[in-house]
Amino acid sequence: MNVPFSDLRMEYQKYQHEYEDAVMRVLKSGWYILGKEVEAFETEFSRYVGRKYCVGVNSGLDALTLAIRAYGIGRGDEVIVPSNTYIATVLAITANGAIPVFCEPDEMYGLDPIRLEKCVTSKTKAIMVVHLYGQAADMERICSISKMHDLILLEDCAQSHGATFQNHMTGSFGEIGCFSFYPTKNLGAFGDGGAIVTDNVDVFEKVRTLRNYGSKVKYYNKFEGINSRLDELQAALLRVKLRHLPELLAERQVMAMYYLTKIKNSLIRLPKIREGAKHTYHQFVIQTDNRDGLQIYLKKNGIQTAIHYPIPPHLAECYKRLNYKTGDFPIAEMMSKDMLSLPMYNGITKKQLAYVTDCINRYTEEIA
Ligand SMILES: *Cc1c(COP(=O)(O)O)cnc(C)c1O
Repeated sequence: MNVPFSDLRMEYQKYQHEYEDAVMRVLKSGWYILGKEVEAFETEFSRYVGRKYCVGVNSGLDALTLAIRAYGIGRGDEVIVPSNTYIATVLAITANGAIPVFCEPDEMYGLDPIRLEKCVTSKTKAIMVVHLYGQAADMERICSISKMHDLILLEDCAQSHGATFQNHMTGSFGEIGCFSFYPTKNLGAFGDGGAIVTDNVDVFEKVRTLRNYGSKVKYYNKFEGINSRLDELQAALLRVKLRHLPELLAERQVMAMYYLTKIKNSLIRLPKIREGAKHTYHQFVIQTDNRDGLQIYLKKNGIQTAIHYPIPPHLAECYKRLNYKTGDFPIAEMMSKDMLSLPMYNGITKKQLAYVTDCINRYTEEIA
């Protein structure tokens, strides 16, 4: 049997007619940038997250970069960020000239509140939380640390659409929430896309202006902005998917529950669920000592897996100038060696899940 890591065709086919209607509506409208669809999506998405305002932009990285910029965080400012995140989170900080201060995660892969306190210095301006793999970080303690030190709390929600903590949506805790609609994300477009959400009207206005050349009134440029607009086609398609997001996320939870209850192998460590958190399983990530061995074994059996992520940001070649070395962030480094993401996508069949589970349960160190 073959099990791909992901197959986006299934999700498309599920609501095919609605997607095609949305595309045709935009094509026939004659209006393709910053129109009714983007406005409607922004309203619907801000409502979904439970915030006042939303601005659609071109990608998750742009959402993060413009969010940091809107708060005036830049040269000489420190931003605390998890050591185990996807590099885009860090790129958004350094693109603004700010300094990333890496903080190691807890055992549920979110910023560890105890270590977080120790990262705060007189130069700290902000904390960038990442709700990695679709599970919220410990927002109760992180919010109180942020308040106590009078810091700006930013949320990278690129992997956590619909994930909650104590019944509040990720993206509704900090000053600003940043989302990606990259096709494989839980709310994925059919191309690039992203958004910020906030309750702060000034920040909302600023990001809205920055995404469009820094111009609010046409040809009158208030800021040195960029071109980072969500287009009408993507917005129309996202509106369809947003309507179905609750059922898509519920399906992911059923798949995850299957893995969680059926995988039984002492060599495999399963993901832990944070108390009070609704995990939406953007990725289902397991850990094992001989990760590469397990990956090769699964591949031989027709099962495709992925690694999120093989190199932690502090060891990325592009950040040589920051002078970090192996051993500086041992938890993130260990994770980069031990973690393996299993096939998990809307449309995967029960048979495929059972096959993956069975192969993992039969896995022994001798096989690797
Ligand atoms: C995907 C992702 C991003 C970047 O989003 P793009 O839309 O690809 O630019 C940022 N942070 C995290 C945690 C991500 O997973």
